[in-house]
Amino acid sequence: MALTFSMTPNPSPRADAERAEILGNPGFGQSFTDHMVVATWREESGWGDGKVKEYGPFQIDPAAAVLHYAQEIFEGMKAYRHEDGSVWTFRPEKNAQRFNRSADRLALPKIDEADFVESLKAIVAADESWVPAFEDGEASLYLRPFMFASEAFLGVRPSKEVTYSVIASPAGAYFKGGVKPVSLWLSRDYARAGVGGTGAAKCGGNYASSLAAQIEANERGCDQSVFLDSVEGTYIEELGGMNLFLVTKDGELITPALTGTILEGVTRDSILELATDLGLKPVERRIKIDEWIDGCNDGTITEVFACGTAAVVTPVGRLVWADGEVTSGPEGEAGPMATKIREALLAIQKGKAEDKRGWMT
Ligand code: PMP
Repeated sequence: MALTFSMTPNPSPRADAERAEILGNPGFGQSFTDHMVVATWREESGWGDGKVKEYGPFQIDPAAAVLHYAQEIFEGMKAYRHEDGSVWTFRPEKNAQRFNRSADRLALPKIDEADFVESLKAIVAADESWVPAFEDGEASLYLRPFMFASEAFLGVRPSKEVTYSVIASPAGAYFKGGVKPVSLWLSRDYARAGVGGTGAAKCGGNYASSLAAQIEANERGCDQSVFLDSVEGTYIEELGGMNLFLVTKDGELITPALTGTILEGVTRDSILELATDLGLKPVERRIKIDEWIDGCNDGTITEVFACGTAAVVTPVGRLVWADGEVTSGPEGEAGPMATKIREALLAIQKGKAEDKRGWMT
């Protein structure tokens, strides 16, 4: 049965001036819109109680399973305003499919792809005034669908009551004043995911376990950590919240193959599809960390970049490890391929280029 979302408007939404002030400098994940979507799943009756209502705290039982066993998943995507004022999301069905794969892995109920997309439409319709203006460039309304075990029960088994919700948060351009390369710390002590584990799912626990490596990266003066495979510690996997690409001097665009321990990024997939249009040869395979290091040293690898919804494409300028480092791409700025791919994707998302593949909803 299709979920419907009944609307109860927030009786005291933020005043126009306050909203305008937030939209003037939104940052990321700091301010939230006036509404939220909520729905509940119960083992005996399935999905129901779909609502759009005033944004506000959940009342949650201290015994709720999520607080103890982390039975939780989420998604992240953006709504963009086009020049004619209309509002669009990028490949939301991909996020819906990934959400359901995550749900399977975390023993949570699936939600119909159509209901997931409808829930996004419902919050965007309620809070349309929070979608940044077309003129604000890369600014967008970040949408965060999530689902958690809300049953009050301390036994370790799949929860019989689950809460689904969508919140929305205006997001500014990731790079203010030009795209700047980041530096990465090569995490040798920590792994992000193990074989048979939850690496391919977007569940909170993966992010909790990445934080120690994030602290290590920051202590080494780096922005983020790169994780290697946990079996051999040899193969590149991804960052805590982005996938990775290497560009070779022969025009190959190489990214680690999906081995079950990597999150299947929507941006990653889109870049692989766009590569041929841009004259690059997309390659998915396992990549040894030495190939990255040696390739940067001998000039085989001309650029490295990370990708994800938040920053679209982020050039990687340096890879740092305990007793060495390599640099990639032009110093202090994005390389030509990272720039080309970033602009191609942003043009589609902002409605400035033809959407040949029907990616926008
Ligand atoms: N890897 C991880 C671990 C992530 O959290 C994300 C962000 N969702 C990505 C990759 C990039 O995925 P996407 O392109 O769908 O944002």
